[in-house]
Amino acid sequence: MKQQDEYWMRHALDLARRAWEQGEVPVGAVLVQNNRVIGEGWNRPIGQHDPTAHAEIMALRQGGKVLENYRLLDTTLYVTLEPCVMCAGAMVHSRISRLVYGAHDIKSGAAGSLLDVLGHPGMNHQVELQSGVLAEECAAMLSDFFRMRREQKKALRHAQRQN
Ligand SMILES: [Zn+2]
Repeated sequence: MKQQDEYWMRHALDLARRAWEQGEVPVGAVLVQNNRVIGEGWNRPIGQHDPTAHAEIMALRQGGKVLENYRLLDTTLYVTLEPCVMCAGAMVHSRISRLVYGAHDIKSGAAGSLLDVLGHPGMNHQVELQSGVLAEECAAMLSDFFRMRREQKKALRHAQRQN
């Protein structure tokens, strides 16, 4: 299981890189059923002018189209970052079996960090959870991205001062 989880998490990291290339916060998600990819997503709310265009939502939407079903039974969603409240809610609605995520999101994670939407005892669907898979790589991609952005802003301010 661990080897498989790391394999698919690397795939999610590749998708996160696409978000980075498009200037979006690098988060990637892949939805897998019977070892087959049925949905892929990367974070792109800015480019899509869509506040709901998180990696997980994109992957779940594609999975629904592939299965021609709004219930995504017997699937595992791999995502590089702990999901937010919206995405955790969508996971309950979609009835995925399992969630595997990489880095914890202390500020807004809804799979145990800020809130525990998935583990709430009153939820009508329980999602099996595995956290911390390739957590260091997943966290490093985000911190590298934010460092790069800070440096870009600093360089821009510096250039403006010289004009
Ligand atoms: Zn989200």
